[in-house]
Amino acid sequence: MTNSTVNFKDYIRVIEDFPTPGISFKDITTLLKDGEAYKAAIQALKKQVEHYNIDVIAGPEARGFVIGAPLALELGVGFVPVRKSGKLPSKTISASYSLEYGTDQLAMHEDAIKPGQRVLIADDLLATGGTIATVVDLVKQLGGEVVGTAFLIELEELQGRKKFEGIDVQSLVTY
Ligand code: AMP
Repeated sequence: MTNSTVNFKDYIRVIEDFPTPGISFKDITTLLKDGEAYKAAIQALKKQVEHYNIDVIAGPEARGFVIGAPLALELGVGFVPVRKSGKLPSKTISASYSLEYGTDQLAMHEDAIKPGQRVLIADDLLATGGTIATVVDLVKQLGGEVVGTAFLIELEELQGRKKFEGIDVQSLVTY
């Protein structure tokens, strides 16, 4: 299977009204469990982002890990986990964020990124952009340069990319 032969939407399961009424949930577990489709997705994203000359990828838990970490391995760069507050063991910085449903707080180790490093932010899905806008804020607080963002899925109607105007958005599929 090559990237060009994969219709990634065929592998994404859509569940209406989960976790709350009105949310059309894009379930990527059906893509992840297929080794060839998962690999093709990571390789397709790699092609879209390799021109950024990335030093490190940052991804929020938990689904940002399953996209960001394999993408980092493919590119030969490091991966920085962005976690819910209270999970990281060393000194952290944190910021609040809102989801398409609910609010939470994200944290990064304060030594996770060196000033001037070129950072790509990766996640499974761009909805309102609240999560990634918060990661952008945290990376900038640490002196990193956000060179782009990468997602498997973009929910265009929610216009999440407007939350971080001026920063490139790459996505594989849109709804
Ligand atoms: P947002 O901050 O609104 O861009 O939300 C992005 C995060 O919430 C992503 O990391 C997704 O994992 C999750 N999420 C939000 N909306 C959906 C959805 N409709 N389907 C699946 N995951 C979603």
